Amino acid sequence: MTTNPSSNSRPLTAAAQELQAALDKGQRVEGRLCPRCKGSGGCVDCQGSGRAPCPQCQGQGNLGNDSRGNPRPCKVCKGRGYLECSPQCDSCLGQGVITSALQSQILAKYAPPAAHGPRKAWGAGLLISICLGVYLLQHLFPFQFAFFIAPYLAPYAPDYASWQIWRLLSAAFLHANLLHLLCNLSCLYVLGQYLEGYLGGRRFLIIFVLGAVGGNILSVFLNPHPGIGASGGIYALLSAAYFYQIRWGLGEAEMARNFWQSGLAILGLGFLLSLMGYPYLDNWAHLGGAIAGAAWVWSTKRPF
Ligand SMILES: [Zn+2]
Ligand SMILES: [Zn+2]
Ligand SMILES: [Zn+2]
Repeated sequence: MTTNPSSNSRPLTAAAQELQAALDKGQRVEGRLCPRCKGSGGCVDCQGSGRAPCPQCQGQGNLGNDSRGNPRPCKVCKGRGYLECSPQCDSCLGQGVITSALQSQILAKYAPPAAHGPRKAWGAGLLISICLGVYLLQHLFPFQFAFFIAPYLAPYAPDYASWQIWRLLSAAFLHANLLHLLCNLSCLYVLGQYLEGYLGGRRFLIIFVLGAVGGNILSVFLNPHPGIGASGGIYALLSAAYFYQIRWGLGEAEMARNFWQSGLAILGLGFLLSLMGYPYLDNWAHLGGAIAGAAWVWSTKRPF
């Protein structure tokens, strides 16, 4: 069966037609149709006009009226109702296909020059140090830690009336035992080596925090025993690595696919074990983290 993704929209670019023809013949080819513009190379936000309706005010230029009845101008578009936009698809730079050759063009277009060279994985290093530090405290001063520190970091407050929002993040730095800690730290190390090279430490940390918080939100509401540990953030990084490759062609296709498949396998296995009554896996935190990472990639307009 062949599908024609352009049937309901604009025609494919020449490169996309070539790729589609090869795929139709069943040939193995490098690259795929751009998932954002479906191979047309055109911008999906402005439909080629160069002006995209402002998402904040839905193109209205204002956000309703204030209490005195005066219109409240939209700050995002400064009251114009639209944002300046490139008529080209921002994922494939107008080519309609995502290939590894595109990677250098994406870097050239979006990344600051300093981002091109090899960079130290300071974001991963920072996260690893915090996790290690907390774990050392926990074992050097078990009594003090259990009574004076852990109660303020744990994922749930003693009663929900005194809800303390930082717990959604701080729980990510607590680990139950050495195996748990080493698993998470080695994941962070590998992801740091892989992702920070092209994303930079700042984005690495943002994605981790989003995943940790997203994961803990799901965990607190859906898991009868909300878990601890960095795995929500790690799942966000795993899924971000995959979707950066799908959407922008960034990173190595093989590696991104491996991350994705092992992430899915562990998630599936985790839910299976939970069904069998094994209580210690925080599957909801993993799922929440994965969703947060994907949402980050698909909601940002530029990779850097
Ligand atoms: Zn595209
Ligand atoms: Zn546009
Ligand atoms: Zn607006």
